[in-house]
Amino acid sequence: MAGRSASDRTIARPGTVAREETDRPSAPEETDAGASARDEGAPTVVERTVYRNGDADDAVDLAIVYEIPESVSKLAFWIERPQVTVVATDGFDPSDVEGYTWQGAVDGPAFEWDGTGDRATVLLRQPVDATPATYGAGADDWALCLRPRTHTRWRYRGTEPRIDRAASVRGTGTAGEQFAFLGAYECEQRRVPPAAPIDDRSRLAGSGRSAEMVRLVVPTAATLAAGPDRVLDSLVAASTRLAVGGRNDVVTVFVAPTEGVTWAHRGLSLGPDARVNDAAPLAAPTNIWVHEYVHTRQDREAVTPATEWLLEATAEYYAVTQAFERGAIGFQEYRTVLERGVEGQPAGAVLADPTTWADDAQYRKGALVVAALDRRIRAATGGERTFQSVLSAWTAAAPGSFDAAAFADAVEAAGGPAARAAAVAYTQRPTAPSCWSGAAHAAAFDVSPADCGVESARAGEVALGDGGCDLARSD
Ligand SMILES: [Zn+2]
Repeated sequence: MAGRSASDRTIARPGTVAREETDRPSAPEETDAGASARDEGAPTVVERTVYRNGDADDAVDLAIVYEIPESVSKLAFWIERPQVTVVATDGFDPSDVEGYTWQGAVDGPAFEWDGTGDRATVLLRQPVDATPATYGAGADDWALCLRPRTHTRWRYRGTEPRIDRAASVRGTGTAGEQFAFLGAYECEQRRVPPAAPIDDRSRLAGSGRSAEMVRLVVPTAATLAAGPDRVLDSLVAASTRLAVGGRNDVVTVFVAPTEGVTWAHRGLSLGPDARVNDAAPLAAPTNIWVHEYVHTRQDREAVTPATEWLLEATAEYYAVTQAFERGAIGFQEYRTVLERGVEGQPAGAVLADPTTWADDAQYRKGALVVAALDRRIRAATGGERTFQSVLSAWTAAAPGSFDAAAFADAVEAAGGPAARAAAVAYTQRPTAPSCWSGAAHAAAFDVSPADCGVESARAGEVALGDGGCDLARSD
């Protein structure tokens, strides 16, 4: 997901203003005009998170240091996750934040600046011994963990301050925007050049098509199933082919060692960072590297309950499609993955209603629905447009919302009214698309009939129409 600066919530108070900086990943510094509205002269609240390998075997130590500008008279923050132990504070008092800074319950340690000095520190210990591991794991010589998610409020005079959050590792290690790795590692990176617009009629310009640096952090303790070059090839290919906006300046993928550690998920992405287990194969139909990469390009804040299915559906669809189009899997395997969207799926799953999801409907049926709509859009436009137009509309909708109506509008704008009708049927009713043959696939997608297991002489027999040959099936 591309970072977006959050809109602040203002609480009116006599003679002063209190503001909350909600903790979205801070926006990457974009050089286009859209980001230049930031007031570079504004006072800055600085939050630095500094990790170090402490004495504890099953935890890492960290300091959260605030530098507070003169115009700020009060400041408090709380830690939403993960669970941490407070070791010491300097300039911060444990806060009864409900009285002043937050309305409602705060679940996690909270701290209020004591008003003295311009710098205040909290020392914390973050466990990395949970099994299975979600927030962090480690061994004698390494640790990989999620950075604490903090929420900060302050009172100020004059110009509204901005907040600058950053993290570092003291000693050997590296911090991304959301994860930190402590221990020996190597880092390889590639620069992906700016993407060409997917079509000239797109009104999206500039920001999301900027260059992107893809970093791969490989701990010495990790045993990467595929070579780092090949993993980077795959990530760069994904970055290149997704010309939909929402690129980050830097994407950091941390390879998670798995020897002696059980992670709760094979991969996890947050903001422009992801972690993926070292054992994750590149040639798998659902390439988890690409899956997590796609998440870094999504704007999670823009989806509503009715469009939340797009998060996993598009990550899964573009992962399996890249695996097929780069030759890691054949058409039969590709089709088998898509068929999971109808085979064995419960009859009542409605993508636009998350309460009906079961058996990973948002992944399985979701990927099939994206595939079917991609095919319809391509067929209706002679391949001039693809489902990426819908992703572009999603990206462009942020920081507003991309709801069911916006989704249907985007499908119609890309593929016409028949595509819209299919999108509504597939997402707002239990209706699922049927799969299609290799010949039909080759006719709509930019792949050769031979790659779809079709003798080229037979490929011409498939009538393309508007892609309506995937007769809707109602479960
Ligand atoms: Zn996912």
